[in-house]
Amino acid sequence: MARPVTIVTGGSRGIGAATCVRLAADGHDLALGYVSNGAAAEETAAAVRAAGARCVTVRVDTAEEADVERLFDTAAAELGPVTGLVNNAGVTGPLGRLADARTADLRRVIEVNLLGYLLCCRRAARDMAARGSGAIVNISSTAATLGAPGEYVHYAAAKAATDALTVGLSKELGPDGIRVNAVAPGIINTEMHAAMGDPDRPARAAAGIPLGRPGEPTEIAAAVAWLLSDDASYTTGTVLRVSGGR
Ligand code: NDP
Repeated sequence: MARPVTIVTGGSRGIGAATCVRLAADGHDLALGYVSNGAAAEETAAAVRAAGARCVTVRVDTAEEADVERLFDTAAAELGPVTGLVNNAGVTGPLGRLADARTADLRRVIEVNLLGYLLCCRRAARDMAARGSGAIVNISSTAATLGAPGEYVHYAAAKAATDALTVGLSKELGPDGIRVNAVAPGIINTEMHAAMGDPDRPARAAAGIPLGRPGEPTEIAAAVAWLLSDDASYTTGTVLRVSGGR
């Protein structure tokens, strides 16, 4: 049987990188997207190849249609027909109240976290429908339901839209044999918190998490791997919270 070919956006670091390594161990070949950190992308690609998988790295800004088209074209040309998509690339911008936010930061969060997901889902839908099968996993956030007041309500809004996209698209694409699910992480130990200007956020949040600690990227990767696998063959339209109970 042909190996699954999966695209992971934002595969260079954090949750995306852990997902690439986990999927390689599960037998996937990978197209790994990154936007700026080529060194991290190559490091993750090396780990993927060490697990016996084929891997191509592609520089792509998921908010740009031409980049997304090139990502899918490259994956298909180098690895074969794409069977899976993990929409993971995301940004938060600086933490703060909406009243203080800059328009450019609001626009960027919506463009990457929502338009980018739509562009990738659209191309995946076209390619997968032509083959009559496929699986998509969108990385959402518990912010979608908690709202993230005082931190980033615009990001929470984009993630709530991701949940709606997941449910709607699962209904649209079910008849084409394509499953669409989401994973909503809680607070996970990645560089994203430092990028928001709050590197200690995961440690500080531990007290409010029923399991008493932030999550690790590998724990999100495990959920993604399950949703892409045949073990989840009857699961679609689901938002799976992986948050330590938060
Ligand atoms: P990181 O900040 O650790 O990594 C972000 C990744 O996205 C990098 O690979 C980065 O590439 C890539 N990226 C950023 N912008 C773009 C873009 N415009 N086009 C393409 N790639 C881009 O993030 P996390 O691993 O923490 O987060 C991954 C996903 O999980 C996001 O969707 C996030 O919203 C979600 N999430 C994270 C949580 C957490 O606590 N960490 C909690 C809930 C959800 P490069 O390396 O080149 O910069």
